[in-house]
Amino acid sequence: MLRVEKVSFSYGGARKILESVSLEVDGGKLVGLLGPNGSGKTTLLRIISKVLQPSGGVVFLNGKKVSELSVRELARELAVVPQETAASFEFTALDVVLMGRTPHLRRFELEKEEDLRIAEECMRLTDCWHLADRPITTLSGGERQRVFIARALAQEPKYLLLDEPTANLDLRYQIEIMEIIKRLAVEKKLVVIMASHELNLVASYCDELVLLNNGRIIAAGAVREVLTRENIRRAFGVDVLVETHPLTGAVYLLPVNGQQHTALHS
Ligand code: ADP
Repeated sequence: MLRVEKVSFSYGGARKILESVSLEVDGGKLVGLLGPNGSGKTTLLRIISKVLQPSGGVVFLNGKKVSELSVRELARELAVVPQETAASFEFTALDVVLMGRTPHLRRFELEKEEDLRIAEECMRLTDCWHLADRPITTLSGGERQRVFIARALAQEPKYLLLDEPTANLDLRYQIEIMEIIKRLAVEKKLVVIMASHELNLVASYCDELVLLNNGRIIAAGAVREVLTRENIRRAFGVDVLVETHPLTGAVYLLPVNGQQHTALHS
């Protein structure tokens, strides 16, 4: 279980970027982290993954303080799929996924058969094994995203953080990535937190949502409790109709006028 307890943070200036943020997520749950640009989503993910130290509060993974785990211990528990997944060198997709095995290798140890087997399994799970020998720089956005999710899985984590995993992907890839993430949460019982701007997409796939605004949680819980007209107005300054999808029963949002539509996805 992941527990974030009263976490606060500032980047040095007087302005608080996060203020007393608390949340709890159980294994098997897919949680969407929402909020306008600059609301603190990426900062929160960085604090959970110990890239940043909070100025107040504590993050617990399975009862252990993240601040007390070594980098290696943490990497065996938690994996991150960052927003920018550009790889500059001519690594193949398989090389990239094998990098996920590093926390399980001893110093200077090379990957073994077992690591290759795990990398293959993760690439099959995310439907990118057929890309194994392709240089990572030649892959499309959706293909690269699947490779980076496979790399995160190769760490064999219990916690998976994704920062806008569907950004810049076309609709088919967006759905494909969400299906993969959802399946992983359920089948591998992972705690999954994904930051996203795709409100309708997270509404159909996430178990719970957390809505940030100005570094504070303004709503958290079931999709229907969070995606209300009032909450969307408060966070995004946009008026929406909250509807129920006639085929799936999921909540979806319809901006009230066309001009405001851009604001929703900015
Ligand atoms: P989000 O992911 O919701 O868009 P971020 O966590 O990236 O929000 O940013 C929250 C706030 O922190 C923004 O106002 C942003 O400008 C500021 N910020 C982000 N990174 C830094 C940094 N390295 N130094 C100073 N301010 C930063």
